[in-house]
Amino acid sequence: MSTFARAVAVVLALGGVLTSGGVLTSGGVLTSGGVLTSGTAGGAAPYDSGPYAGSLCPTEGVGSSLCTAHRQVRAALQGVEHRADALADGATCEPQEGLWVCFGVTSVLAQRGGTTYGDTFLTARDQQVLDSSLIVHELEHVRQWRLFGPSFTALYLREGIDPCGNYFEEQAGFADGGYTCP
Ligand SMILES: [Zn+2]
Repeated sequence: MSTFARAVAVVLALGGVLTSGGVLTSGGVLTSGGVLTSGTAGGAAPYDSGPYAGSLCPTEGVGSSLCTAHRQVRAALQGVEHRADALADGATCEPQEGLWVCFGVTSVLAQRGGTTYGDTFLTARDQQVLDSSLIVHELEHVRQWRLFGPSFTALYLREGIDPCGNYFEEQAGFADGGYTCP
């Protein structure tokens, strides 16, 4: 087993441990699919021709696959950490259509109706079945975390807090995210 495969196995184990018994199986499948296939599946936004193309992993060379693997594992670990914190604070976390969702998050991290960190969407709202359009929007943010890695926070903030002027919100879809933009 390669080092990366071992790291993925650790992430899977953590993800499984942190979910309740009822969602353990689907949680494992979800995390497995996300970690192993992200960056190649889903999402249509052409970031390699966008303003932050220079912040993507290199597409060739010895560092390319390592960079990609690192960012995917980081996104998964970031999600695990946020789910652990949310669960400790009394939130409920479950997978919905390929996205980890934590409901009843009381911290500032769940601002503006909800925010995605790594592969996990934190929201203050009560547990419910989310609109598929919102899930599509948040899954694009998951893809952004995986593609841009730890620097995504800085890139996102550079775009400004107004969602209608934010490149990453535009790529995820204003309407799907619940934003009414001119
Ligand atoms: Zn968004």
